Amino acid sequence: MKKLGAVERRWSYASWTSPSHYNLLIGLLPHKSPRHVYASEYYKTEFLKFNERLGVEDLKFASMVPRLYLPLFLKESLGYQTNARVSMPVLNPKTILNQGFDSYKLMDKHNDMRAMLRDMPFPEEHPSFYLLNVGETHYPYALADEPPEEWPRISGVHGVFKYLDEHVPGGKLVARKQKFFDTSKLEMLRKKQVRAVQSLDRVIEELFDLVPKNTYITITADHGELFGEGGYFGHGPIQHEKVWEVPFVEGKLR
Ligand SMILES: [Zn+2]
Repeated sequence: MKKLGAVERRWSYASWTSPSHYNLLIGLLPHKSPRHVYASEYYKTEFLKFNERLGVEDLKFASMVPRLYLPLFLKESLGYQTNARVSMPVLNPKTILNQGFDSYKLMDKHNDMRAMLRDMPFPEEHPSFYLLNVGETHYPYALADEPPEEWPRISGVHGVFKYLDEHVPGGKLVARKQKFFDTSKLEMLRKKQVRAVQSLDRVIEELFDLVPKNTYITITADHGELFGEGGYFGHGPIQHEKVWEVPFVEGKLR
């Protein structure tokens, strides 16, 4: 990922997957939390970056009004073929997020970005946009080849575990007082998430070799995650700096 560009520390607009992706699809990528700046100015400046991202010149924030939805805009105003491949059930094709997409698929496995690469057509006549929502870094931080019986078993969150936590909006990884994780378990989980990021690094390299010019791809894993900081685990109904903190990398095909 570092070959694409510098890794920046940024902040998610939302603390869990669904609203976080709504923001991303409006065109609001993770923010820099700038001080002494009006939010409206920041949105405007950030939005102008789409000129460079898409290789156009006269894109203004007003071009997105009134619908404020990037896939619709890319498809209808710029002639993009728009596609989404999502891993989290909470983003499934029946949700309201599926607007303006020519193709929108929930992957069979929640943790297999490599499978997305086998299902990415690039028509020559149109530029392409892809939203790739990856789930490897999401709880339970398991890799695609890891048998489910070896995924970490966490007492107290089994019910939500079954539904990949965010399948039930609001049914989140709330730490129950009676059985909170011990430090070594949290550290083990954190290491698993780090390993998941490393495994994605290789897949992103494969993706890079695959895409033709005239393609705009946003890869998302949505929000921060807590491993015991402030007494929290996971994300969602949490007010803590770490739940907003995300890495941000932006790059261009040369
Ligand atoms: Zn999420």
